[in-house]
Amino acid sequence: MTDRNYVIDQMISAKEIAARVEALAGEINAEFHDSGQLIVVGLLRGSFVFIADLVRELDLPVEVDFLEASSYGDAMESSREVRILKDLRGAIEGRDVLIVEDIVDTGFTLSHVRGLLESRQPARLKTIALLDKPTRREVEITADWTGFEIPDEFVVGYGIDYAQRDRNLPFIGKVRFTGE
Ligand code: 5GP
Ligand code: MG
Ligand code: MG
Repeated sequence: MTDRNYVIDQMISAKEIAARVEALAGEINAEFHDSGQLIVVGLLRGSFVFIADLVRELDLPVEVDFLEASSYGDAMESSREVRILKDLRGAIEGRDVLIVEDIVDTGFTLSHVRGLLESRQPARLKTIALLDKPTRREVEITADWTGFEIPDEFVVGYGIDYAQRDRNLPFIGKVRFTGE
């Protein structure tokens, strides 16, 4: 819970997101067109809206699985130590895998999860992030596909929360604190 007052200024509209998701899906369809079955791995919870929209634009045989890694909790700073809270249900050895992340910030989360899944020897392992804050990076990693590069602002909406709120907003907005 948060007791600070804030407003949300829209940064990326629902329409802009939909157009970008469609374009990204086109590239993923091309990359994996020869794939027997693509396992799309959503990182909980922030990616749940993005993955829902993305998979509906894929015309490939797709499986969906989820993994939850600890990150911010309810704070606004990265914990830097990444723990797996919920692992995949299925095995990925010899399979094609796409990791779907909401935001790459310091890079610790995606880098850790990527390393973990790589160690399970998938046939192909790719990553996609809806948002990227390149100026915040502490670990050298870039997703294979990125929706939008954004400045160092705390954002919510389209699955992404502030203290568990605002995930249901259809757009991406930045949090602006007002008064006390
Ligand atoms: P990283 O390990 O790259 O520092 O952090 C990645 C995670 O931090 C993201 O998956 C996301 O959950 C969280 N995060 C980074 N920036 C923001 C933000 O602006 N808003 C929210 N709600 N979470 C963020
Ligand atoms: Mg996340
Ligand atoms: Mg969060």
